[in-house]
Amino acid sequence: MLLGAHVSISGTIDKAVDRAVELKCTTFQIFTRNPRGWKAKKLTDEEVEDFREKMKKYGFRVAVSHMPYLPNISSPQQQTFKKSVKSLIEEFERTNLLGLNYLVVHIGSHLGKGLDVGIKRAAEAVNTALSKVEGSVMILLENMAGQKNSVGSRFEDVKRILNLIEYPDRVGVCLDTCHAFAAGYDLRTREAIDNTLNDFDQIIGIKLLKVVHINDSKGDLGSHLDRHEHIGMGKIGENGFRELFHHPWIRDLPLILETPVDSRGDFATNLEKCRELYL
Ligand code: MN
Ligand code: MN
Ligand code: ZN
Repeated sequence: MLLGAHVSISGTIDKAVDRAVELKCTTFQIFTRNPRGWKAKKLTDEEVEDFREKMKKYGFRVAVSHMPYLPNISSPQQQTFKKSVKSLIEEFERTNLLGLNYLVVHIGSHLGKGLDVGIKRAAEAVNTALSKVEGSVMILLENMAGQKNSVGSRFEDVKRILNLIEYPDRVGVCLDTCHAFAAGYDLRTREAIDNTLNDFDQIIGIKLLKVVHINDSKGDLGSHLDRHEHIGMGKIGENGFRELFHHPWIRDLPLILETPVDSRGDFATNLEKCRELYL
């Protein structure tokens, strides 16, 4: 079972590994830097070495980094787009340096210019980045909840981006269950999950699915709300996650929580719930 959570890098970046171990995670996700700014301090050799050593010591086989919040690779604005591509390149390099497997990227927002523009931009951003960097890290496009102007909430849109990618073996998909559900893909029952995953397979290809963000949803099916909820307390519900964890296409993938931390629970309680449902 590859189950983990998005852990903080506060202190030094290798502390993220300690936090994952503390939570008994077998995989995890991090931001390689403060996600709220454009600038990143360079990782020192020592930071990289400490991180890699801990990964090895605790036997983590798969771990993931996530792009910071500000970049928008679908942006029609030249300035933001350029900065976003630069940031994608930087994050790719950092992810590679840290020995992580995947870099998860939100597809972004076309800011009112239309899906066609956003799709073209997103593909251009990924192609440009991959033409400039080497390394084994795979970029994973994350499906969106379908908020206003967002790009990539439909599997068809993700596929249109993938069709434009010049490095097909370096790009895959991260499926966020909350985003998918909010975008209208039902995950509440065995039958609904079969339908959703068959759609994914027919449109994108299940082989491209590399990571699953497991988040319950505060919003209803098709609500387009990106509001994560504790596992079992949202509109997808316990049954949905139990069925999802038992699906042969999902069960062995890295499953990573991005659930809230509040009075009703934290990563420890959500991990426990997931382990119970996984059995
Ligand atoms: Mn995300
Ligand atoms: Mn996510
Ligand atoms: Zn989200």
